[in-house]
Amino acid sequence: MNQIDTLVAGQGLAGSLLAMMLADRGVDVRVVAPGPEGSATAAAAGILSPFTGPRYQAPARLGELLTTARSTYQSLEAILGCSLFTPQPIWRVLQAPEEIGQIKRRQDQHPAGDYLPSPTREGLPEGVMAPYGASCMHGGGHVALGQLQEHVRRHLHAAGRLIDDTLAPEAVVFETDGTVRWQQWRARRIIFCDGAGAFGNPWWRYLPWRRSCGESLTIASEAPQGQPGLPGAIITGGKSLVPLDDGTHRLGATYDRDHAACHPTEAARQELLAALPRLLQDPPPVRVVRGHAGVRPCSHPGPPFIGMHPEDDHIGILNGLGSRGTLLGPWHATRLADHIALGRPLPADADVRQRRDLP
Ligand SMILES: Cc1cc2nc3c(=O)[nH]c(=O)nc-3n(C[C@H](O)[C@H](O)[C@H](O)COP(=O)(O)OP(=O)(O)OC[C@H]3O[C@@H](n4cnc5c(N)ncnc54)[C@H](O)[C@@H]3O)c2cc1C
Repeated sequence: MNQIDTLVAGQGLAGSLLAMMLADRGVDVRVVAPGPEGSATAAAAGILSPFTGPRYQAPARLGELLTTARSTYQSLEAILGCSLFTPQPIWRVLQAPEEIGQIKRRQDQHPAGDYLPSPTREGLPEGVMAPYGASCMHGGGHVALGQLQEHVRRHLHAAGRLIDDTLAPEAVVFETDGTVRWQQWRARRIIFCDGAGAFGNPWWRYLPWRRSCGESLTIASEAPQGQPGLPGAIITGGKSLVPLDDGTHRLGATYDRDHAACHPTEAARQELLAALPRLLQDPPPVRVVRGHAGVRPCSHPGPPFIGMHPEDDHIGILNGLGSRGTLLGPWHATRLADHIALGRPLPADADVRQRRDLP
């Protein structure tokens, strides 16, 4: 029997961040995770944006979330020895004139003038369609989530912390000495970072989940030589276009609450490709390199779920990052890691035990 402190189940963005933070705080942690296939993290475009959608929504603590996100990705880069975060402006193309009013309201609500400037066409990358202008949002950028997941997995493997398996909640045994056992592992706690797996997890299925399947495409420009290719900046507006380090682009994303199956579909491919002429005046011919699909684990309503089970101290959660994992993940993982390793209290509005909005 191997005695350890914490077992983490799942290694998408949530499990990757939590495992790295726990290890960094000296916690004896192991991660039970199958490969990245089918995870939301592997399908995501990786945009770290302060505001999203035509209502320019932003979570509470925006400034703190952005600061924690940037510093987390930068310190992971140092530990893992790879590039993960590219700070860069995000051009939000207005889809209707009414968005100007929304931007003004958000600018009044948040001291966010720095993050959400008024719409302009100045500096807009060439060829981008913006009949109503675009806001050049600051403070975010692009997180290479696929790289992050892969490098953390390799790092955990090299450190002897990775168990290549799936942790079935039903197989967990509660010992009389106050520990939990799974296979030959005896731990003080198990933290589920199982993404959409939580919808059927007997411990956590009582939470108000909302399923949202999503797809994205990796595309490559096939513009003839001398002709403009795809833009070198992140463009969002209905759909998003993200330049990647290897010269390809990620085009995303679809939202589908009705279907349970989550694999690349022809319908999503058509929907995404049809968006290109709405984003760009004269889009170049493109080749689809790969389709990606995943289920966003959305908490509905409210912020992500962190903390220990209301009825059992041995079972915990970090989940519900929804469509904003890059922004929400680092702050929530930090709070939970500090709670586990240092005994710091969780903020009441984030703690799954104390939240008043839950059943
Ligand atoms: C198409 C698409 C585009 C997106 N674009 C963006 C974007 O641009 N910016 C952004 O911030 N967010 C984006 N998101 C959302 C983002 O992907 C999620 O917020 C985030 O990745 C969720 O991470 P997670 O670790 O909670 O879940 P996941 O990444 O799904 O990871 C959960 C992991 O747990 C594993 N697992 C499940 N059950 C078990 C078990 N019992 N034992 C062990 N392992 C288990 C799964 O196999 C999986 O690997 C996008 C999502 C999609 C689908």
